[in-house]
Amino acid sequence: MTIKVAINGFGTIGKRVADAVAAQPDMVVAGVTKTRPTSEAWLAASRGYPLFGVSTDHAAALSEAGLKVAGALPQLLQGADVVVDCSPGKMGVTNLPAYAAAGVKVVLQGGEKHQSAGLSFNAAANYHKAVGATKARVVSCNTTGLIRTLHPLREAFGIDHVHAVMVRRGADPADTDSGPINAIEPVLRIPSHHGPDVATVMEGLSISTLAMAVPTTLMHLHAVAVQLTRPPTSAAEVLAQWGRQRRILFVEGAKGVTSTAQVMELAKDMGRPRSDLQQVAVWRDGVSLVGPSLYYYQAIHQESDVVPENVDCIRALSGTVKDGPTSMAMTDTALGLTNGA
Ligand code: NAD
Repeated sequence: MTIKVAINGFGTIGKRVADAVAAQPDMVVAGVTKTRPTSEAWLAASRGYPLFGVSTDHAAALSEAGLKVAGALPQLLQGADVVVDCSPGKMGVTNLPAYAAAGVKVVLQGGEKHQSAGLSFNAAANYHKAVGATKARVVSCNTTGLIRTLHPLREAFGIDHVHAVMVRRGADPADTDSGPINAIEPVLRIPSHHGPDVATVMEGLSISTLAMAVPTTLMHLHAVAVQLTRPPTSAAEVLAQWGRQRRILFVEGAKGVTSTAQVMELAKDMGRPRSDLQQVAVWRDGVSLVGPSLYYYQAIHQESDVVPENVDCIRALSGTVKDGPTSMAMTDTALGLTNGA
């Protein structure tokens, strides 16, 4: 079966999800929506993705600009099995009635609350829960990155408590409205939402998080401290456990990768589309084990790390692939993501 996927919102996440879906052997892009004839609307046209307006007015605006328009969202949903909502944060929940009326399955993004779908998703941690479900929410970029390293730690060593500090990029590279541009802005609500969000997937996890925004667009950086229940004798065992996982990329300060700038340069040199880095980057030589306490740093490419999870979530909801490892292997092969590279 070929899964027909609609993408509602063709922005930072939507355009990446569309390209990732188009690369899968078992999926096709049924169409994407735009509100305005921005360069991304022309990109959709050049990729050959059927273009729809979010509303009939939006469809008319796209058409007036000279774009070939196939209709509006309701028509797109009629021809889709799954819709991936990539509209701006908190807007996805307002689209749910339209999706329910069309009878399509729904993937929401991390800008929505857990309650919007009632099921938060990470492929390695809880793929099985989404198999055949009507809707699920792929957790945010930060939450995805935290789960990618914490879930295997919990499986192998048990976790008593996690404390993590998130140093967040002030804006995406193409975003001229956000900041700060000359300040460090702490999130005063403690714990930040990231910890409780991780626990929507890793149920029962004891985790507290602090966060701040800084003037960079490149990536987020996490400083993580984990109290392990059954600590190994060396950090090498932790690295070995992470090395067996998909979507963890080791980087090394000893090889000149000493900041998020060099991590992004590595992604460019690897020839990734858009210079994206879908894996979480963990500094191999920044991992330290002191008794039961594990410390490490990781970097998150906020624009792309959730993209493979979206593909897996589509497959899980469709029920075509019943187990996470198989879906993850299919996704990563199609995207050219090899274990550790
Ligand atoms: P974005 O602003 O880059 O893109 C949103 C797109 O939706 C735009 O193309 C916009 O024109 C379109 N849109 C506007 N109104 C719409 C509507 N009513 N219906 C459908 N589409 C509409 O946003 P983004 O960064 O891609 O974020 C999308 C979602 O992904 C949010 O929930 C966000 O929290 C989440 N997310 C973002 C990032 C990130 O770093 N950018 C990372 C992970 C998750």
